[in-house]
Amino acid sequence: MLFVNRMGVDIALKKIFIDTSKDHKNNDNAVFIFQKPVVCSICKSNNVITDPEAAEIVCSKCGMVISDKIQETRQESRTFLTNEAEDRGRTGMPTSLALSDMGLSTVIARSDKDASGYEIKPSMLSTMHRLRMWDFRTQARTSTHRNLRFAFNELHTLKDKLGLPDTIIEKTAYIYRKAQARRLVRGRSISAVLTAAIYISCRELGIQRSLDDIAIISNIKRKSIAKCYRLLIYELDIQIPTLDPMKCIVKVANKAVLNEKTKRHAIDVMKNVTKKEISAGKNPMGLAATVVYISCIKTGEHRTQKDIAEAAGITDVTLRNRFKDLKDKLQLN
Ligand SMILES: [Zn+2]
Repeated sequence: MLFVNRMGVDIALKKIFIDTSKDHKNNDNAVFIFQKPVVCSICKSNNVITDPEAAEIVCSKCGMVISDKIQETRQESRTFLTNEAEDRGRTGMPTSLALSDMGLSTVIARSDKDASGYEIKPSMLSTMHRLRMWDFRTQARTSTHRNLRFAFNELHTLKDKLGLPDTIIEKTAYIYRKAQARRLVRGRSISAVLTAAIYISCRELGIQRSLDDIAIISNIKRKSIAKCYRLLIYELDIQIPTLDPMKCIVKVANKAVLNEKTKRHAIDVMKNVTKKEISAGKNPMGLAATVVYISCIKTGEHRTQKDIAEAAGITDVTLRNRFKDLKDKLQLN
């Protein structure tokens, strides 16, 4: 949006003026936005927590809710109008790592009209022309920038296809930017590095997407994603949290619709397994499935190996092998 004429400039100043001093009476024209430090009314602490989910500001010491009306800083509505003068958004786009310029660049309209839709005075035209030119020149138009733009376009397509939440997208963009800065993308396919970054984010934030799912949907070979995945893990020193076998048990048991008794028994068996250190280096899902299968036998709930394997998303061969292994080590029957 442009603020060009005299009135426009005033509006622009009003919007951005943030008062930090006390002598605001000197200027009657400007509207001030007070940035008072938020202090708790009970314990006078200024350690506050902003919780955007609940739209509250809470004191971190005593838990007093200081304000339940925090201002939304994200854009309130999206406009699909091409005419900028019609765009009445109070705020701009939210910043995002998943945009090549993080959503921070200015867009100066090409038309010679100001924010209110009036023609710009001829005396201002050359100034505007110069501003536009410098705006264009300051936007990064390097190969790095183009690379990021290409990658993030693809990221947004994959977001919709895989049904990923925004947190994954931001995390992926963060990892991809890091990889780009370390020159890991050079000589590799942008898409492969990007999908590997998506897979890492999913693993880190505990979102269930298998490498196969991602490979099929992104139409990139599983092998090349896996290769990039290992490279990123190694080069960027990323720690991937392993699946918690206890959580896996609950997941398998719920999917196979087992009763509470079997579930509890399985958790007890798993505790035993972890204590004896049989679990080290094993696929936690396979291990959990086996433990669930063992408890099914113990409690007399009838499930075949195939049922349990299907619920855990592993093959029944894996389950059978692990079962043999555990039977010896736990000295069952
Ligand atoms: Zn307090």
